[in-house]
Amino acid sequence: MPRVVVLRMGHRIDRDKRVTTHVGLVARAFGADGIIIANTRDTAVEESIRKVVRNWGGDFFVESGKPWREIVAEWRRGGGCIVHLTMYGLPVNDVVPRLRDRDLLIIVGAEKMPGEVFEIADFNIAIGNQPHSEIAALAVFLDRLFGGSELKREFKNGKIRVIPSEKGKKIEIKA
Ligand code: SAM
Repeated sequence: MPRVVVLRMGHRIDRDKRVTTHVGLVARAFGADGIIIANTRDTAVEESIRKVVRNWGGDFFVESGKPWREIVAEWRRGGGCIVHLTMYGLPVNDVVPRLRDRDLLIIVGAEKMPGEVFEIADFNIAIGNQPHSEIAALAVFLDRLFGGSELKREFKNGKIRVIPSEKGKKIEIKA
């Protein structure tokens, strides 16, 4: 199974906590193996995401603080592919079939992205060419990548599990 990791760039501790946490939750729920928050160490966001992993299961990982160039260089040394989600990129549907059997590092931004990223990426991919959000872009990209199978995944060793139901909220809590 190819490895899929999200690299969150441009995280600002004072204003991106919620969005970056949601990028992490989407990465986890839509099939990625982990998220790395580049450059900025943010233990609060790490803990928020780890708490969801403890309660809902799986072995999703979160790291923060490493310089993004180091992460990209390590990933490339390992033979992985660098994907940058940007509204300026090529249409996701045209590109994603070529990515399915590759280890992917998926870069999403927050503020203005350094032009260098567009050069370094093996693929600059757009989820439509309109400005929207790193959360939506990541969700749609991962769903296209995994073809919807990510939504059927079981998360092992979770304490809480939803019982899908037509009405109301049914959950199973493991002791
Ligand atoms: N204004 C910034 C720039 O031009 O670099 C981007 C701001 S945008 C709110 C934050 C991130 O959302 C982008 O870096 C990109 O990763 C993602 N994003 C937004 N719209 C997108 C789109 N149409 N396709 C792919 N990614 C998108």
